[in-house]
Amino acid sequence: MTSLDDLPIRDDLRGREPYGAPQLEVPVALNTNENPYPPSERLVKALGEAVADVAGSLNRYPDRDAVALREDLAAFLNEDTPGAGLTSRQVWAANGSNEIIQQILQAFGGPGRAAMGFEPSYSMHPIITRVSGTRWIDAHRDEDFGLEPARAVAAIEEHRPDVVFLTSPNNPTGTALPLESIEAVLAAAPGMVVVDEAYAEFRRAGTPSALTLLPGNPRLIVTRTMSKAFAMAGTRLGYLAADPAVVDALLLVRLPYHLSAVTQAVARTALAHGAELLGTVDRLRRERDDLVGWLRGEGFTVADSDANFVLFGRFPDRGRIWRGLLDRGVLIREVGPPEWLRVSVGTAEEMAAFRTAMKESV
Ligand SMILES: *Cc1c(COP(=O)(O)O)cnc(C)c1O
Repeated sequence: MTSLDDLPIRDDLRGREPYGAPQLEVPVALNTNENPYPPSERLVKALGEAVADVAGSLNRYPDRDAVALREDLAAFLNEDTPGAGLTSRQVWAANGSNEIIQQILQAFGGPGRAAMGFEPSYSMHPIITRVSGTRWIDAHRDEDFGLEPARAVAAIEEHRPDVVFLTSPNNPTGTALPLESIEAVLAAAPGMVVVDEAYAEFRRAGTPSALTLLPGNPRLIVTRTMSKAFAMAGTRLGYLAADPAVVDALLLVRLPYHLSAVTQAVARTALAHGAELLGTVDRLRRERDDLVGWLRGEGFTVADSDANFVLFGRFPDRGRIWRGLLDRGVLIREVGPPEWLRVSVGTAEEMAAFRTAMKESV
């Protein structure tokens, strides 16, 4: 049998493991930060109609530049962050924000270049960075998972990275960054600064979005996704807001017709039902705050969360707890610093199942 090692694969890919959050069939899946509420019957019907509408012209390539979808996304962001004043020229979309990140690295990273992040953070940032031939530098977060501006600036000045990744709210810790940290990084960074806001819609009241920093900062990119709060992980739609020149740069590296007509139609329909889809966000935030309170009440250490998941610990043998929960039908994520576990916020029933399983497992 041929193995990977027998193939003339790139040397820098040898020995690598593929990305792998376990995809297991379990009654209670709290491991990938999805929104637990499926689309309503009304939305399912609208999605079916939208797909039927494009089905008759699937012999043709889709709109390569996804202009109508980008207009809808700009309108959504302007509602999310009043004063953002974005136009469709400042918005770009792709198959998940992972593809957005890949395009950013293809345009601004590459061999001989470096990207910096602050771990623990989103595991795909270093993975996509390395696959693009870019060197990865981990300047790590502070002990409390925050990012002290002076230390971040010192790391940037030392390494002069071409791309800096900031994740806010951060995955897997849930930590939102104050704008001062982002502004300090922007002022120091010689290259692009990407603020990954996959969980922005879950942030607590009064936590600003980096979208407010876009005017006058042409090297800032804010990425968002429809996979989390928008409850559309299966659609694969991620997007960014940035200076129009950044979009021009990404046009150089994107594959032609990368976003299928079906994806564009489904995403636009979901955006048209945005109020309904995002209607679950407040419920999930309350559930999150209750979860943080409960875990602390049980004596666990819990990181503050502005997202739809909670990082908690500390367990000298976290694998035992993870397995104990799984044995009871509850799948969470063994991720982040050793001794910590991450649980996504689900429905009230799912959280009750989690609490019961936790009590039995510890
Ligand atoms: C889940 C997640 C994404 C989303 O990726 P998609 O490709 O849009 O599904 C991006 N960034 C972070 C930090 C995430 O946790």
